[in-house]
Amino acid sequence: MIRVAVAGCAGRMGGTVVGAVEAASDMEVACGVDPHAGGGVSFPVFRSVREALDGADFDVLVDFTQPDVVEGNLREALPEGVDCVVGTTGLSTGALEELASLAPAGTCLFYAPNFTTGAVLMMEFAKAAAPYFPEAEVLEFHHCNKKDAPSGTAVRTAQLISEARGGRASEAPGRETEVAGAEGARGALVEGVPVHSVRSMGYVASQEVVFGSFGQTLSVRHDSWDRASYMPGVLLGIRSVGEREGLVVGLENFMK
Ligand code: NAD
Repeated sequence: MIRVAVAGCAGRMGGTVVGAVEAASDMEVACGVDPHAGGGVSFPVFRSVREALDGADFDVLVDFTQPDVVEGNLREALPEGVDCVVGTTGLSTGALEELASLAPAGTCLFYAPNFTTGAVLMMEFAKAAAPYFPEAEVLEFHHCNKKDAPSGTAVRTAQLISEARGGRASEAPGRETEVAGAEGARGALVEGVPVHSVRSMGYVASQEVVFGSFGQTLSVRHDSWDRASYMPGVLLGIRSVGEREGLVVGLENFMK
């Protein structure tokens, strides 16, 4: 049995992770961590990761909390040799590397900007297309309660496109064409790739990558309509971290 602690267990994603872990036959919820949790659950819930480390025994910490608290959580868990599966977005590559270095040998920090297989494939297809199209823009669509923009998936996609085209910047009209009073119309530039963030009722998480060349466009789109779409990836991460060590970024590392 893999013993799992779920940080953010009272949240939208954390609550779904609790249900998925409880339904899996090879793992169990050892405890939850959430300062805003109510009662009514069958496992102990702690207010902080520190309290959970002192009061419960677990192999893996899953973190779906908030961009401003995830780093503190990992700073507590990793030095104690707890494998971490992180979905909370907002940590830079540099921060992830530094956090992974705090862990003893044999410990894994696994971060996936997106746990859906479809989004991982969408990023792979975008990476494959990028060298062949002079232009690429990322449009991402999320629910109104999302706390960060752009999304972690959009940032990762922009990084992959930039790498795949050797850092070459877009040739499309940029910020200099934005009219006064409507700054931002051309989106945020992430490694030279314009990223546009839509926030609206009705969405969970969608992303479209639009490529342009002479007389042709190519669109690669993924839609996640239910948080259940993330759970196979989260469970795969929980099952896989025990066999790895150091920093692993991206579900594609385990999807072979
Ligand atoms: P949410 O606001 O519904 O839940 C966050 C929970 O974290 C809340 O219950 C809150 O009380 C709790 N929390 C706050 N401080 C805490 C602390 N110190 N320790 C433990 N828990 C704490 O948010 P959500 O929609 O569930 O999203 C959570 C995160 O996951 C966001 O960063 C979001 O962008 C990210 N996300 C990632 C993926 C992915 O595939 N990687 C998918 C969806 C969401």
